Amino acid sequence: MRLILLGPPGSGKGTQAQRLIHRHGIVQLSTGEMLRAAVAAQTPVGLKAKDIMAGGGLVPDEIVIGIISDRLDQPDATKGFILDGFPRTVPQAQALDDLLKKKHIRLDAAIELRVNESALLQRVETRVAEMRARGEEVRIDDTPEVLTKRLASYRSLTEPLIHYYSERRKLLTVDGMMTIEHVTREINRILAAIGASEASKKAGKKAVPARRVAKGAKTTARKVSKSAGKGANKGVKASKKAAKASGRAGKPASGGAKNSSRKASASSKARAAGKAGKTGKKVTKKRAKA
Ligand code: ADP
Repeated sequence: MRLILLGPPGSGKGTQAQRLIHRHGIVQLSTGEMLRAAVAAQTPVGLKAKDIMAGGGLVPDEIVIGIISDRLDQPDATKGFILDGFPRTVPQAQALDDLLKKKHIRLDAAIELRVNESALLQRVETRVAEMRARGEEVRIDDTPEVLTKRLASYRSLTEPLIHYYSERRKLLTVDGMMTIEHVTREINRILAAIGASEASKKAGKKAVPARRVAKGAKTTARKVSKSAGKGANKGVKASKKAAKASGRAGKPASGGAKNSSRKASASSKARAAGKAGKTGKKVTKKRAKA
């Protein structure tokens, strides 16, 4: 199984990646962790990356692309992998496409964990408190100021990847506001549906196009939000209000269970159009013509 996990800082990529690697016997390739290890070991890459990371900026593409290319060649990655934190920009996604082509590796899916942006700061604060309680070293970029920068960089540089993978029919969107357990179950369900897991491949399960699975994911997300009862509905109402106020429909900030269950392609189109302005319109026009 070969996957990409997409989502802003605090969306739960790391947590879900850990659960997936245990279940499917694949490796997690986290550029953030690799870079933190390089910083700690004071390697030449680490020395270059240190200040950039501390300030919440992005390490130059050629560095992370090099790291990932080397890592993909290691024997433990042959059975499958989850990319976490890479690609983070469209040029990185294009470089990854080239790398995978050269290495004759096929990507199964890009899973987007969609979350309500207002929950992220709280989530990161909780993560910091838990790490402190466990006596672990806290990431220096996990401060409210740097997190704001990381979020801004996610919005402007990484979010376009939602559209990128949607156009390539690789995108699967999961509601990241559900409980950790529910998110894992939903990811596993859609992976089984596209026949990405080795178990379902062995069982001869036919692959289903990502879009059809995304439709299925929609139903599940709806069911979950319904079963969550009034509380969830309130959340949806609140996020609708927020969407109205900000006037930015289709933004992950206005997510909630209902929003995230929207068809991936439609939401990314709306987002591209709403956010990127002219560029988004161009894309939509182009697609309408085609
Ligand atoms: P986050 O929780 O913000 O997703 P990560 O652990 O993935 O955190 O990354 C931490 C930092 O490492 C980023 O803020 C960035 O400086 C650097 N980094 C990680 N992955 C990449 C990448 N693909 N491209 C550029 N910089 C990266």
